[in-house]
Amino acid sequence: MKDGGLFAVDGIIQQVGSTAELPQQADVVLDLSGQIALPGLINTHHHLNQTLFRNLPGAQNNNLFPWLKAQYNIWAGTTPPASRASTLVGLAELAASGCTTAFDHSYLFKNGNTIDCQIEAAKEIGMRFHASRGSMSLGESKGGLPPDACVEDEDFILKDSQRAIEQYHDPSIGSMTQIALAPCSPFSVSADLLKESASIARSSGVRLHTHLCETLEEERFTLERFQLRPIDWMDSLGWLEADVWFAHAVHVDDDEIKKMANARCGVAHCPCSNMRLASGIAPVKKYMASGVKVGLGVDGSASNDSSHMLQEVRQAMLLARLRLGLLPPEGPVKYSQLPVTHPLRAAEWMTAREALELATIGGAKVLGRSDIGSLEPGKCADFFSINLHTIDYAGALHDPVAATVFCAPQKAEYTIINGRIVVENGRVATVDMEPVVEEHNRWSLALARKSHEPIGS
Ligand SMILES: [Zn+2]
Repeated sequence: MKDGGLFAVDGIIQQVGSTAELPQQADVVLDLSGQIALPGLINTHHHLNQTLFRNLPGAQNNNLFPWLKAQYNIWAGTTPPASRASTLVGLAELAASGCTTAFDHSYLFKNGNTIDCQIEAAKEIGMRFHASRGSMSLGESKGGLPPDACVEDEDFILKDSQRAIEQYHDPSIGSMTQIALAPCSPFSVSADLLKESASIARSSGVRLHTHLCETLEEERFTLERFQLRPIDWMDSLGWLEADVWFAHAVHVDDDEIKKMANARCGVAHCPCSNMRLASGIAPVKKYMASGVKVGLGVDGSASNDSSHMLQEVRQAMLLARLRLGLLPPEGPVKYSQLPVTHPLRAAEWMTAREALELATIGGAKVLGRSDIGSLEPGKCADFFSINLHTIDYAGALHDPVAATVFCAPQKAEYTIINGRIVVENGRVATVDMEPVVEEHNRWSLALARKSHEPIGS
């Protein structure tokens, strides 16, 4: 809408319409002339603590299993202050790229580290935050991938999961804090822990999340150990349900997509990470066509090195098109001889608007929220704006919405979360990030050297 605006009270949108029709008085009036305002982006998969471990030389050129093995012990060194700094850095980066709701998948809690410091950091910066009490319990000695020193006792995990839910989970409309239970992956937790986590989650009304079908190595693991492919393995544990979403879901066949659609479970598509780790290309258009809920995730910063949400939107569009060029048609066999530009194959193209929908309405469905994902009365006042009159968009303004996806990903001028200004004139307005970045860099170097004290502290 041209010359559009919205009016919000106490973090909830009351009116959306042309600026002239909106109330002319308010406590805060934002003039976004020359900018485009879009619904806040929703990140459905991250490991915020990994901002400390971006670009580690030993993990630059390997795929998932060797990449994990190169880092588990380093990640385990993360202390509560390092976790706070990394959470602030990751959330600042997300907010500056238009993200207003972030889910974090934390699963490695050593050195007194808990999700509490992450939740506090999210409050500080003002991000709508879904935290996970994640877990790993299957160490190397039990046939799992992580070192024994990186896993936790299952009884403690379950007790702490219950505590986190009771202490923090707020299911109400406009909620700023929710909890999910998120055992890490089939190769790092036991069947018992998956079942028990599902039981606690369901009796408490919180959602369930894990990594699944990310790589062929994972598929080999479940086939060898359980004689089941990953989707069937999770199904056997009661994990193929509407309250579950899986990160990645790259390696699935058509029957498995049908099962996922019938179960109404969701997927966090992480294109940058899947490319970075050479994991493969998720069949996102097939998911969309069959009714699987799909949101986008930047994934952890050790496998993306960036938390730029708008960049993820662009990569989702581009990667779906690469799949279109590489693989057979996704429609009937009779299409196989048709060129990709034939009108009968038009639905196989990921459009810019579809990619934005994945990051907004799609993400809201994956997280089970009806109060975010679009700008309309009754929904949360979560949005961001981008200045369109820049070199980056010059010549692309025939379609400003699509320009934000087709052109190089830009930073937000303003990001508003729950009616509060979190990014103002391109800078985080709620936390002084300069000292945080400095402290974060000291922790990053210290932890890579396996020291539990930041350099220079
Ligand atoms: Zn992940």
